[in-house]
Amino acid sequence: MEQKITEMYGSLVFGDKVMRDKLPKDIYKALRKTIDKGTHLELDVANAVAIAMKEWAVDNGATHYTHWFQPLTGFTAEKHDSFISPTSDGEIIMEFSGKALVKGEPDASSFPSGGIRATFEARGYTAWDPSSPAFIKDKTLYIPTAFCSYTGEALDKKTPLLRSMDALSREAVKLLKIIGNDEVESVITTVGPEQEYFLVDKDDYKKRRDLIFTGRTLFGAPAPKGQEMEDHYFGSLRPRVSAFMHELDEELWKVGIPAKTKHNEVAPCQHELAPVFDTTNVAVDHNQLTMELMKKIAEKHNFVCLLHEKPFAGINGSGKHNNWSLSTNTGVNLLDPGKTPAENIQFLLFLVAVIKAVDEHADMLRLSVASAGNDHRLGANEAPPAIISIFLGEELTAVLDSIENEKFFKKGENVQMGVGAQVIPHFTKDNTDRNRTSPFAFTGNKFEFRSLGSSASVATPNIVLNTAVADALSQFNKKLEGLSGKKLESAIHELIKSTITKHKRVLFDGNGYTDEWVKEAKKRGLYNLKSTPDVLPRLLDKSNKELFIKHGIYSETEIESRYEILLENYTKTIHIEACTLKDMMYHDFMSAVTKYMDDTAEHIVRKKTVSKEIPVTAEENMLKTIASKYESLAAAVLKLEEDIAKAEKISDELKKAKFYHDPVLSDMEEVRKYADYIEQYIPDSYLPYPTYSKILFYV
Ligand code: ADP
Ligand code: MG
Repeated sequence: MEQKITEMYGSLVFGDKVMRDKLPKDIYKALRKTIDKGTHLELDVANAVAIAMKEWAVDNGATHYTHWFQPLTGFTAEKHDSFISPTSDGEIIMEFSGKALVKGEPDASSFPSGGIRATFEARGYTAWDPSSPAFIKDKTLYIPTAFCSYTGEALDKKTPLLRSMDALSREAVKLLKIIGNDEVESVITTVGPEQEYFLVDKDDYKKRRDLIFTGRTLFGAPAPKGQEMEDHYFGSLRPRVSAFMHELDEELWKVGIPAKTKHNEVAPCQHELAPVFDTTNVAVDHNQLTMELMKKIAEKHNFVCLLHEKPFAGINGSGKHNNWSLSTNTGVNLLDPGKTPAENIQFLLFLVAVIKAVDEHADMLRLSVASAGNDHRLGANEAPPAIISIFLGEELTAVLDSIENEKFFKKGENVQMGVGAQVIPHFTKDNTDRNRTSPFAFTGNKFEFRSLGSSASVATPNIVLNTAVADALSQFNKKLEGLSGKKLESAIHELIKSTITKHKRVLFDGNGYTDEWVKEAKKRGLYNLKSTPDVLPRLLDKSNKELFIKHGIYSETEIESRYEILLENYTKTIHIEACTLKDMMYHDFMSAVTKYMDDTAEHIVRKKTVSKEIPVTAEENMLKTIASKYESLAAAVLKLEEDIAKAEKISDELKKAKFYHDPVLSDMEEVRKYADYIEQYIPDSYLPYPTYSKILFYV
């Protein structure tokens, strides 16, 4: 069995072992250099790689190849070409060239570009990312690629992600050199995303148009039981769910995704999967693939996998935890506090750089997780608040405190402390992982950014995080460059100390779910950008534009296009939700309610005809209650309908998004309030869709 699994793992990946086996030595070396150091790949190398890749893919059952990319929709896109090529004698051969491997030309006109690419400039191109391995899925060779416009602007999430990784590596290596660490040639960021999701029965799903169109239920009375018993979290897996998870694990392993941990989550029907961490761009690709495979495999088990951030009201929604760290090419985790003084200086510098980055660019971090779906979670006592702050844990806080105040650091027995020779206790995960309410928590040897929504690509938050930290490091480098010996030492000391003083306002170890924290954060001058339309305009702020432009992550055009796409996406999402709710009210719910009221009225009349003596007060009261709420419901739906019409007429995109946030979204909540109230009284047999009780407690 063990052998079977180790053989299965990565069996559908064109990974290092296959490359070494299939490629001539010099070609393998050249490709390895490109992968590890980002050097240019010559066409003859590409040709040789293409041939080997095709042979391997065909041997493994592939007939097609595709350039797989991540347009700004947040999903992945692919266009399949077969390997076949007709010959002059009417036969075919299987062919794949270096040119076809390196570059593709999909028609880009139907992908969002936020105005970059007018439709007459429809062409865009995809470019192979050799640092993320190709793999086989559905008899197709998938080649991870970046996606750009013909004029060279990035139309995807991979390009800026790779740029941000470069920027961070550049600045980190520079800093390491300054402090005397000459061995390091590159620094990579590592990411391990924990993915939450819901599984619902496919037959239930098909009966709810809100789930089909919007991925979430737009109304529905709470089930008598929710998550209050806390019996689902880490509970034993139900057989159907377990079968799904087993198949998912195997499929993930085959394509080289190291799926590691799986368990039930807090809400009923909610689960989580976490892989072992990887280089950021590979982790991002893998997370996209994981989400795809979750959906596909769920179908096979007669489930539907919901990745929406808030599929059901009243119980937890789904998020994604972005575990993030920095690692040198020599294998050192720069966020590991370590045991020796030299490494501690290094650790402290990188630690305070992250603190500075998060404080200075909190608005961009908030923006990086903003979406209509995630707005339901952030600040809703199930996910971190919209206020971005950092949890460090007691010991590390004490360490920073002692540096700032030039005190000796004491832990257990007296440990002497002075910058230059810190003795930092070796952290166990236990010491730092208890706070679950913080958006950005230090967890032993990495940070965990917990504000991400479950459905979104993890690329954007990592682009921002990498860029923000690169920026902090570049400021450090400017201060320390050219110094040496005692001067350097005291400059480092001063730098760490002043950074703590300046940015400690972002540190918060308390309960992030409380109102006190909201007040306190305001006092400290921290952002509390609650909704997507609140935060999006921050992207156009001069300092934020400069940040991305300075480090070569986005051009001004790319920033503006992204802003437009994000706004549009928000508006469209709420629009579809509003229309779906209106439709379901008129077509499904309100007609069910009138039918029930009708039947009840008829029942009362019939009872009365039998005998005046039979009491009917109970039915009459029930009818009165429903009828009066029905009036309010009908008025609320009408108001929603009117506001949708008004929203559609607004031409300014920001105003439009704001209008969809309020009043449209508030109208929807109002409709829901009455609908959920009435639904409690309506028998299931009258409802053309399954209720929360049915959906959440099915297996
Ligand atoms: P928890 O649920 O307690 O947060 P998990 O074990 O479920 O912990 O998830 C932790 C995640 O962090 C895993 O995906 C793991 O691979 C990842 N991780 C561990 N070390 C690093 C690191 N150095 N860089 C990035 N991610 C890491
Ligand atoms: Mg976690």
